[in-house]
Amino acid sequence: MIKNYINGEWSASTGVETVEVINPANEEVLALSPLGTHKDVDRAVSAAKEAFKSWRKTPAVDRVQYLFKLKTLLEENFDSIVKLCTQEHGKTLVESRGDVRRGIQMVETACGIPSLMMGQSFEDFAVGIDSQSIRQPMGVFAGITPFNFPAMVPFWFWPFAVATGNTYVLKPSERVPLTQIKIFELIEKAGLPKGVMNLVLGGKEVVNSLCSHPDIKGVSFVGSTPVAKHVYQLGTSHGKRVQALGGAKNFMVVLPDANLETSVKTCLESIVGCAGQRCLAGSVIICVGNTYDEVKKQILKAASDLIVGDGSDPRTQMGPVISKASVETIKGLIQSAADEGADIVLDGRKYSGKGFFLNPTVVGEVTSKMRIAKEEVFGPVVCLARGKSLDEAIQWINSSSFANTASLFTSSGAAARQFSYEAAPAMLGLNIGVPAPMSFFSFGGAKDSFFGDIKAHGQSGIQFFTDTKVTIQRWNKDSNIW
Ligand code: NAD
Repeated sequence: MIKNYINGEWSASTGVETVEVINPANEEVLALSPLGTHKDVDRAVSAAKEAFKSWRKTPAVDRVQYLFKLKTLLEENFDSIVKLCTQEHGKTLVESRGDVRRGIQMVETACGIPSLMMGQSFEDFAVGIDSQSIRQPMGVFAGITPFNFPAMVPFWFWPFAVATGNTYVLKPSERVPLTQIKIFELIEKAGLPKGVMNLVLGGKEVVNSLCSHPDIKGVSFVGSTPVAKHVYQLGTSHGKRVQALGGAKNFMVVLPDANLETSVKTCLESIVGCAGQRCLAGSVIICVGNTYDEVKKQILKAASDLIVGDGSDPRTQMGPVISKASVETIKGLIQSAADEGADIVLDGRKYSGKGFFLNPTVVGEVTSKMRIAKEEVFGPVVCLARGKSLDEAIQWINSSSFANTASLFTSSGAAARQFSYEAAPAMLGLNIGVPAPMSFFSFGGAKDSFFGDIKAHGQSGIQFFTDTKVTIQRWNKDSNIW
């Protein structure tokens, strides 16, 4: 049974129920993950609260030394983290490398906290009166993360929280806890003081406890929209700052003036990469004007050629999805499209054998009214739709309840500007299929893809994990204000 990491020690969970951590490529049980309880959360929060007293007084330049050390340890252990990530998630080794690399970049950016956290000051805003605004850490923060990026997503938050002087409790997905166990072993090696970083394994009970615990100042959540909404409501009703990143439905628009060959390759990679289990995965390709037939032909060829298999085999181009339940949900959505009149151009449901596999599927003649055009698929399913114009495509995108990302493929600057100006999603790609902001930019969608005010990492990360304090001062000897 895997253990919690609380107050600098590995300790058994108080939960009696467990979840099997399964390798989705061969259904092998890798570990048992305990479903922790409120008691575990309480212990972790007490440790973090105690550690905050001295951690917040540790100069920022000293705090980041632990992150520099961790960065080195992550590089030294890069391949073993990648292997674990592929084993418990199923993604290919190349995709796991991306997962871990993007995580390390967050640590690198957070090492710049002494500059990033600086405040503002102003002299003589009235005669002899100066003012300064500083950023202060707030206390204990918590992170609750999903299965689809076992390494990267927790790094979106905690390096910024800890570098700004807060302490932290992380609850990773119960389906992929092993990558984080390995990373916490490195956090321990990096020598962070006891209680600064804590890991509590679990599910719903741990989540609810974190969202309502009186000693937690804020919660970062990433996962599906219903749970994001729940976490936002529960956390804010308990007076916490909450940033809750939810699900998505990402559209890609191909205009007739785009380079079709590159655009199709980019769209396909976006849709089937990580077997479609990315919150930034493309889903519906709206083919504008006369592009539909050519896009369909090229997508069909490329999708049929993809090598599907165990992600740990270097030849594999697409791995399995996370679970049997996921396979069934995706198959159900494909069937709903067929029932609603779509054209199943390539049917990936016929995969047989062990593991939670689907082959890439291409669904043609998708319209905005179909279920498959509205709901998140989270699987390797390409939806092809016809569009009359860019205006019409933008209208369709903006009618979605989600607004995480959208991409446009074009060689027209005017079209690109219109798209950037009018499309509702908060992360846009211009000839880019997965417009994931880098660690030094802020990350997060809009509408049902994001609940909160302050987004993840970049400058938003600094804002979320600190509060501002303004001091106004007068020190003139000869002041005669009275
Ligand atoms: P999920 O919502 O099932 O789980 C996320 C976290 O919530 C996990 O830690 C889980 O233990 C917890 N949880 C699950 N059900 C709960 C409940 N009823 N009450 C309280 N806590 C609960 O999500 P997932 O399946 O792990 O991840 C996939 C989803 O995450 C997709 O919808 C995807 O789009 C989304 N996602 C979004 C982003 C983004 O940036 N917007 C990034 C990655 C993933």
